[in-house]
Amino acid sequence: MQTTALGKEPIVVARPLQGATRSLVGLSRDEIGERLKAIGVADKQIKMRVQQVWHWMYHRGVQSFEEMSNVSKDLREKLIAHYEIGRPEIIESLLSEDGTRKWLMRFPDGQDVETVFIPDDDRGTLCVSSQVGCTLTCKFCHTGTQNLVRNLTPQEIVMQVLVARDTLGEWPSPIEGRLLTNIVLMGMGEPLYNFDNVKTAMQVLMDEQGISLSRRRITLSTSGVVPEMKRCGEELGVNLAISLHAVDNKTRSDIMPINNKYPLEELLAACRDYPGASNARRITFEYIMLKGINDSDEDARELVRLLRQYNIPAKVNLIPFNPWPGSGYERSSNNRVRRFSDIIFEAGISAPIRATRGQDILAACGQLKSESQKKRKSEILAEEKRGSVS
Ligand code: SAH
Ligand code: SF4
Repeated sequence: MQTTALGKEPIVVARPLQGATRSLVGLSRDEIGERLKAIGVADKQIKMRVQQVWHWMYHRGVQSFEEMSNVSKDLREKLIAHYEIGRPEIIESLLSEDGTRKWLMRFPDGQDVETVFIPDDDRGTLCVSSQVGCTLTCKFCHTGTQNLVRNLTPQEIVMQVLVARDTLGEWPSPIEGRLLTNIVLMGMGEPLYNFDNVKTAMQVLMDEQGISLSRRRITLSTSGVVPEMKRCGEELGVNLAISLHAVDNKTRSDIMPINNKYPLEELLAACRDYPGASNARRITFEYIMLKGINDSDEDARELVRLLRQYNIPAKVNLIPFNPWPGSGYERSSNNRVRRFSDIIFEAGISAPIRATRGQDILAACGQLKSESQKKRKSEILAEEKRGSVS
């Protein structure tokens, strides 16, 4: 797989993360304040010290306390003795021939996640994971076949951004001409099943004294966890993307079992009520084109009808299906996708076709699945083979 790509890149980790609980990455300012207090920083100094540490971690991107030159030597020594700000182990750092990058990182408990960077002319988007695997089992999605699942901590979510910026050389935070401009929560996992941690992590990334990403440049994609959608709008105010993928309950429940719990009517009503949605900030409806399943002209017309009926400020994003071994689905033909797109455009709703990126490094939507999981599977297969030989 890696042979067609530009290949493996040198791994940039100056300081490996030793113990997740010692790390200050991903903590809120208040939590960092508590950690400083615990090592003897006086109350009246806490705010100023937090500000210094924050600046070094998120504006300068340093990986060691030694570099915090305006922090007193005495405090630096204490910080070194008790805490850390290094990076997770990076198992792989890949660069595609189209410029897409993918990192596979492993956390101290042995779980790993993938993160993808997609450069475009006018922006650079980091596709961030929110869980190891996913408890939902959408039939077209490779991540959904992974049986090992756990939530990522705020630290692990923030780390994905730090690692990307390390590789891209984006420290100190550039004021203009950034490469990494946008974040989409479209990697592994369902972000609204891990909303508290996602929220803490996004707040760290949005902080104006650090990475300073605007909420308008962050998009959270959900398969439709209706009860959490309102909170997402009210408490984070980020853009919302919905994995719609079908326009009738029968088809949607068949390919996305979560639809049995939160059917289309409830999902669309929650979209209509999403705080902050407007014509200037539309909700994105992602729609995978699956041959013979959801790609007819009638489906396109029904999609338009539903968006009108619920009066949702919407744009549609058509995604060519990215196949993986054993998925059982096929990608709709280019002509079919174009026709589908035309019908929606003709109704006055934007419906671009998403370019598939980073295929040579298996970085496309729905193809992410952790390496440890793949390894476990191949080890099992090898064992089974050995068993059948003996
Ligand atoms: N769990 C969230 C976010 C992660 S999935 C969600 O489902 O929205 C990110 C996007 O990739 C979703 O729209 C998902 O439906 C899409 N996707 C999953 N498998 C895919 C595949 N094989 N080909 C193309 N897109 C896929
Ligand atoms: Fe989970 Fe999203 Fe994949 Fe469905 S599409 S299995 S919700 S990651």
